[in-house]
Amino acid sequence: MGGGNSVTGSLFNNLWAVQEGRCAICGEPMPRGRFDVPHATVWKKKRPSFDHIRPRNKGGGDESDNLQLAHAGCNWRKGDSWKP
Ligand SMILES: [Zn+2]
Repeated sequence: MGGGNSVTGSLFNNLWAVQEGRCAICGEPMPRGRFDVPHATVWKKKRPSFDHIRPRNKGGGDESDNLQLAHAGCNWRKGDSWKP
């Protein structure tokens, strides 16, 4: 543990480039910023968020190779449903 908030802007940018701005879960494009969407409630669901490919409560870490970008809404829906 430790290291605090290791999720950096450059990691975000790397993942964004690799995924070409698309959600890792549903494959749809993600808005880059709040003002790319018409309303704050849309942003809340569609904003890009860091998703742990292997959830932390299943032993997944915060390493960049365990992180992907997904819509916040897709991330929530996925929840703890990861299966080995
Ligand atoms: Zn999505």
